[in-house]
Amino acid sequence: MSEKRDYYEVLGVGKTASADEIKKAYRKKAMEFHPDKNPGDKAAEEKFKEANEAYEVLSDADKKTRYDQYGHAGVDPSAGGGGFSGGGGFGGFEDIFGDIFSAFGGGGGFSSGSSRGRSRSNRGSDMKISINLTFREAVFGVEKKIKIKRNESCSTCGGTGAEKGSTAKTCDQCGGSGQVYVRQQTPFGTVQQVQTCDKCHGEGKIIDKPCATCHGKGVELKERTINIKIPAGVDDGQMLPLRGEGNAGPNNGSKGDLYVYMNVKEDLLFKRNGDDVYYEVPITYAQAAMGDGLVVPTIDGRIKLKIPEGTQNGKVFRLKGKGIPNVNGRGRGDLFITIKVEVPRKLNREQRHALEEFAKVTGVDAHPEGKRFWSRVETEEKENSPKKDA
Ligand SMILES: [Zn+2]
Ligand SMILES: [Zn+2]
Repeated sequence: MSEKRDYYEVLGVGKTASADEIKKAYRKKAMEFHPDKNPGDKAAEEKFKEANEAYEVLSDADKKTRYDQYGHAGVDPSAGGGGFSGGGGFGGFEDIFGDIFSAFGGGGGFSSGSSRGRSRSNRGSDMKISINLTFREAVFGVEKKIKIKRNESCSTCGGTGAEKGSTAKTCDQCGGSGQVYVRQQTPFGTVQQVQTCDKCHGEGKIIDKPCATCHGKGVELKERTINIKIPAGVDDGQMLPLRGEGNAGPNNGSKGDLYVYMNVKEDLLFKRNGDDVYYEVPITYAQAAMGDGLVVPTIDGRIKLKIPEGTQNGKVFRLKGKGIPNVNGRGRGDLFITIKVEVPRKLNREQRHALEEFAKVTGVDAHPEGKRFWSRVETEEKENSPKKDA
């Protein structure tokens, strides 16, 4: 078959034609090519069919919108290569035009093939929970027992939905696939469509006596305690997907997933950014000036940190590999320790005297930054003072 002509072209109207103009144009074409007027004329018959098809789409507001947006693929299933009959070829088509096909109102019936569509509609829903962790639990990993309520396969009927003694019979209308192919005779040929089986409502099975516990659903709500292994290095807001730990699907359908969100409590001391850890350590003026050996905390316990003589306020020490283990196993982050020199807030007489003695013997040479600053101030003032011209 040759390629389809544009529907507007077929009717001989512009794309902006009004509903009335489309109707008039169609009547004209229909009269011109009507089989009664052109007996035995194959070409005229084709043109008549073509005009009918064009009008069927362009006269329907919904279809016209789809046609305007997606062309023939939007309104004619057979335009999609494999079409509805070929299970395999339909997958990609559906992905591209997913929204169109939901607009067709076909429910699950428009899914490709047989098994994929059914298992998807029977899949249990996903669940979300959040789990509270301390900073250290997140850093080193932990195992948690969590209580959740979820749908599980019904223990009375084993998930079949049928009462004991009775069975769920395979639907004779669809043969258990939950879908039926409907062949529609149109003036333009046969169109095959997939629809949800109306006898079993897409379940593929018919239950004569539904199970009293689950009312035929095949699932019942149960409280379960599950063990969750939190890997070392997780961070606040991260999510751990547990496949198949969500709700069981109806009638022995597959299980949904359980999404576990991390809610990590802030630590009193350590601040975190990615895999790195930060904190600030106050030291005295004397420690900063003379240097000292500190014993500082890390997430693994205390370690020695040498403060060299003359350490300035704001100095950052980076301790490689003393940060948090990477959750994906890519080593460890670093620990950044910022020095904060704390000036004595109040001095007694003895302290004041000692500092005065210290100040006397400490000249500007011990404070090069201060020396540089005041020399700059003097230069700046000299350059900008008003010149005294005669
Ligand atoms: Zn049951
Ligand atoms: Zn059926």
